[in-house]
Amino acid sequence: ETRVRFAPSPTGHLHIGGARSALFNWLYAKKHNGKFILRFEDTDQNRNVDQAEQKMMDSLSWLGLTWDEGPGVGGPNGPYRSSERLHLYQPYIDQLLGKGIAYRCYCTPEELEQERETLMASGQTPRYLGKCRKLSEADEAQCVAEGRKPVIRFRVPGNETIVIHDQVRGRVTFDSEGIGDFVIIKSDGMPTYNLAVTIDDYLMGITDVIRGEEHLSNTPRQVLIYQALGFDTPTFAHVSLILGKDRQKMSKRDETVIQFVEQYRDLGFLPEALNNFLALLGWSPEGEREIFSLEELAQEFSLDRVAKNPAVFDPEKLNWMNNHYLKQADIQVVTQLSIPHLQKAGYIGEEVTEEKMHWIRALVALYVERMDSPAQLPQLVNLFFEQEVVFAEGADEVLREENVPAVLGEFINQLQEVSEFSPETIQSALKAVQKQTGYKGKQLFMPVRVATTGVIHGPDLNQSLWLLGKNRVIERLQAHLS
Ligand code: GLU
Repeated sequence: ETRVRFAPSPTGHLHIGGARSALFNWLYAKKHNGKFILRFEDTDQNRNVDQAEQKMMDSLSWLGLTWDEGPGVGGPNGPYRSSERLHLYQPYIDQLLGKGIAYRCYCTPEELEQERETLMASGQTPRYLGKCRKLSEADEAQCVAEGRKPVIRFRVPGNETIVIHDQVRGRVTFDSEGIGDFVIIKSDGMPTYNLAVTIDDYLMGITDVIRGEEHLSNTPRQVLIYQALGFDTPTFAHVSLILGKDRQKMSKRDETVIQFVEQYRDLGFLPEALNNFLALLGWSPEGEREIFSLEELAQEFSLDRVAKNPAVFDPEKLNWMNNHYLKQADIQVVTQLSIPHLQKAGYIGEEVTEEKMHWIRALVALYVERMDSPAQLPQLVNLFFEQEVVFAEGADEVLREENVPAVLGEFINQLQEVSEFSPETIQSALKAVQKQTGYKGKQLFMPVRVATTGVIHGPDLNQSLWLLGKNRVIERLQAHLS
């Protein structure tokens, strides 16, 4: 059985890079009728952030990336949080210590820093050179007496080539000489990521490890632990980094690029759009098609179509995709997503009456084609809420043409005759204006559109006028007749 996992450290919100890893694992599990497991790797206690687990789970659930085992749902391989698995690591640590594959190291952070600087100064890879490899019992007793707190290090064999057959990158080799004995248990007694991830993946029966390329350099260390403990090594797939449009690695601190799933959710993005977009960050289907539902992605997905070269994060493409999905979505869904943004802009109150809801739904339907996300709606529709009409560049020139007084004047007359103000009666009124004035096409519609909405290009005019309401329309028309 295929078993894959997403194993984030609870250090903050779910980043789009993490979401992509989760998605690839989820798709791979579905494709192979396997299991998708969620596990929190929280042994680096300085980096853990309160609420991060819950937020990450909320983001995953929102995306629809449900897990078969993990926090919340349980499963036979729990607990699914590294810090609660210390008792499970202990026998393996004892085993490694017993075999002399692991040893206690008493070097202080200052001593290690010194070693690092010396190596760097002579142009060598900074690494631990094994000072504590052969401590006698007396040496150790001395260190303990000095109050030094040990870490446990893994003894890396010399002169070995560690080979990884990566499903994305092919054969990747590492020279063990460059690695240096690495820490598996920190001085606070907590296991390091490399130890915990190896034992957890083994105990949870993980068959395929699919994760970001930033972990590729950790993989030889994990392979050494697998081998030392006699575990079968899972297959690996390291997915390329996601770069910004400037082709630089995206910085999580860069606030000009929206990078967290929760932010997209709050802007009113649809999970379908984000999933579809994330899937294409590094993976490409056969053919030119770009729009895929989660189920379709699961059918199509394969690691051999995951690219080795970095993926470039293009926010415009994501916007385009979201626009596509918004247009397909039930208008009620888009309306619900839009309401908080209209409220935030102060355009509608907390309470939304049935009648108002009807009006908002029509407004959303009229503008859905034009928005990348519901967060943009307020700026698209401010003309329905602000007292003053703001004219788009060049728009007011339309109102200086000679046809304007006749068209606007006659339209007011016609509207005053209308008993029930609706898109249909507005349409008839405009027809009547055409008949009376002889103006048609642009000469008829432009003055009306610009006087009432301030723009030259806008959505359906009859709908727009209807949404503005009769009084406001007449008021705005009158403002240009003096
Ligand atoms: N805890 C690691 C992280 O947050 C996951 C590494 C892995 O998938 O092995 O990046």
